[in-house]
Amino acid sequence: MAIVNEHYLKLASGYFFPEISRRVAAFAEANPALAPRIIRCGVGDVTEPLPAVAVEALRSGAEDLGRREAFRGYGPATGYASVREAIARVDFRERGIAIGADEVFLSDGSKPDASAFVEILASGTPAAGGNRIAVCDPVYPVYVDNNVMAGNTGPALEGGGYEGLTYLPATPANGFVPEPPREPVDIAFLCFPNNPTGAVATRSQLARWVDWALAHDALLCFDAAYEAYVRDPALPRSIFEIRGAERCAMEFRSFSKNGGFTGVRAGYTVVPKALEGRTRSGTRVSLHQLWSRRWATCSNGVSWPVQKAMEALCSPQGQAEMRALVDFYMGNAAILREACRAQGLRVWGGEHAPYVWVECPRGLGSWDTFDLLLAEAQLVVTPGAGFGRHGEGFFRISAFNSRASVEEAGRRVSVLVNALAQK
Ligand SMILES: *Cc1c(COP(=O)(O)O)cnc(C)c1O
Repeated sequence: MAIVNEHYLKLASGYFFPEISRRVAAFAEANPALAPRIIRCGVGDVTEPLPAVAVEALRSGAEDLGRREAFRGYGPATGYASVREAIARVDFRERGIAIGADEVFLSDGSKPDASAFVEILASGTPAAGGNRIAVCDPVYPVYVDNNVMAGNTGPALEGGGYEGLTYLPATPANGFVPEPPREPVDIAFLCFPNNPTGAVATRSQLARWVDWALAHDALLCFDAAYEAYVRDPALPRSIFEIRGAERCAMEFRSFSKNGGFTGVRAGYTVVPKALEGRTRSGTRVSLHQLWSRRWATCSNGVSWPVQKAMEALCSPQGQAEMRALVDFYMGNAAILREACRAQGLRVWGGEHAPYVWVECPRGLGSWDTFDLLLAEAQLVVTPGAGFGRHGEGFFRISAFNSRASVEEAGRRVSVLVNALAQK
């Protein structure tokens, strides 16, 4: 009989979004009259149609495959040079960042990239000589779960988290941007603008992380999925805006939240040629080389129509359409933020991110707040506790929705406050 990867069995009751779906479905079944009123501001998935340039590129890419003269079979595993070049130019060089086309690796999204990148790093718990890995708390659960599945942690801990991981509390006191740890760490996962808190790191905060990583020979895995949501040009949109980052950081990028590609599937990683890891015995190894090798063996790349769509998003027209899409969601975020503030709730995020992070009123727990909002207002949010211990006492509202739903959701926030006032 096949022996399974038992690390999967450590995963704490699974991803918490299924639990949200379960509670919403149970409520809808018990209250059929209220079910049509439910507004979902829980899962962070886009709602608006694709930019027209992307649709046209997907269509023409599909047509290419249907014509003998334009047909293409296998492409390069890490993407066509012209697409990698367009990305390196538009997302980096035109912003003064020296990233080469051969440092850009095209993929079907950041979630699979975050999983795959763990494969080129040593596995095992810190106690068994593996990497010491730091994550912020609360955190996008994907970074944690991948490391659990790879055997890089101990078992789940009572009350959240896993043995062997280093958790960096993100709290109101540090503006949800943790300082680098004092204890030794080999790899840190960072995400700014942040999911779930909406916090964004300043240039000097990121510079402290880069200086720390260079001083301690640590690797930063920087998730920039929400970079397009940064409104203030003084705030960094890439870790590579920080001097020295090419020697200590890699970056995850996605077309999901800027181009609305959550269902198309497209993203990329930036792994600089100067970036190194080491063997257990201390020999330095190019991570760019290992990552290239991994792609050559494990993938045949991204489909031609999708690569064409990525390139189209890099055109001036594509950039303008993406900006319009992001502006729309940021308009939603402003409405939700103001609605919560008007009710006297403490609110963070929503200014450079499509997420509004709200403190639960009157010391309520985050699942209790979730249940109350569902029952009293038919409003679905994400309980902060699902993102980690330090997410307890908060909830996340996603700005990914139609304008009409967001305006209605904003009005219903008052129901939470009123319901509590009557208790
Ligand atoms: C949505 C999201 C992504 C994007 O994932 P894809 O697989 O590219 O759709 C990456 N990181 C974070 C934190 C996200 O919220």
